[in-house]
Amino acid sequence: MSEGISRGNPFDLTGLTAIVTGANTGIGQGIAVALARAGAGIAAVGRSAMDETAGLVAETGAPFLAIQADLGSIEPVASIIRQTVEWSGRADVLVNNAGIIRRADSIDFTEEDWDAVMNVNLKSAFFLAQAFARQLLADGRPGKVINIASMLSFQGGIRVPSYTASKSGIAGLTRLLACEWAAKGINVNAIAPGYFATNNTEALRNDDKRNTDILARIPAGRWGKPEDLGGAAVFLASSASDYVHGVTLPVDGGWLAR
Ligand code: NAP
Repeated sequence: MSEGISRGNPFDLTGLTAIVTGANTGIGQGIAVALARAGAGIAAVGRSAMDETAGLVAETGAPFLAIQADLGSIEPVASIIRQTVEWSGRADVLVNNAGIIRRADSIDFTEEDWDAVMNVNLKSAFFLAQAFARQLLADGRPGKVINIASMLSFQGGIRVPSYTASKSGIAGLTRLLACEWAAKGINVNAIAPGYFATNNTEALRNDDKRNTDILARIPAGRWGKPEDLGGAAVFLASSASDYVHGVTLPVDGGWLAR
């Protein structure tokens, strides 16, 4: 992917720097560790302590930087890119993973629950991608944006109207940015996780009926684990995906095939 660096292994990320938002836990942590195992330095962005992720990345030997930022607004966006470049001299991969969910019947849904979810899941993801792409263009480097979508980028779901809107939006935005930036050497793609055992799905897993219904529909017969996403993330971050643009790749244990 990077100019002047010849690699025998197209999945090798050695020498590259990946920014991963929401990397302290769950899917973001799993992706950060997978990218680090493939050789990338990790700039881990979030509002909570990154100590656990720092330890896991340290075990891989990859460089690690924690960046404190609340992505409930776009205020920290420019500083995230600046801190990353000051630290490593470059930013090659952006994983827009930070996300929240609010659950209530649509008939009762509040503006606060609408705005909170849209701001983190969609608005901050777009403006961070914009700041990242501006940096790549200024540096004359290629780069990779990986957005984290959802099954609700394809399906309706229930009781999560702002989440479905944001994740359907992220799939559309992935296509739009791919159309605008593919010829500039920037790949924009998304990963759509199926049902993963993280904080985000705790309420579902604690609801016996929903848990049983969900498991019954997953051909793989189990909830996903954050490490199940590592291969897709490394692929989309690496030169192996240089001609892949605008896709939303399901990693779902077969959920959508059902
Ligand atoms: P999670 O454990 O709740 O992680 C969410 C991450 O986003 C955390 O690191 C969280 O930080 C961060 N975040 C939330 N609000 C933030 C803010 N204002 N500023 C900065 N960081 C913020 O859930 P997860 O399942 O790993 O979710 C990660 C992504 O995957 C989300 O985009 C989610 O929608 C998506 N996803 C999850 C599933 C699933 O089944 N779990 C399925 C499809 C898509 P804090 O810990 O500080 O809150």
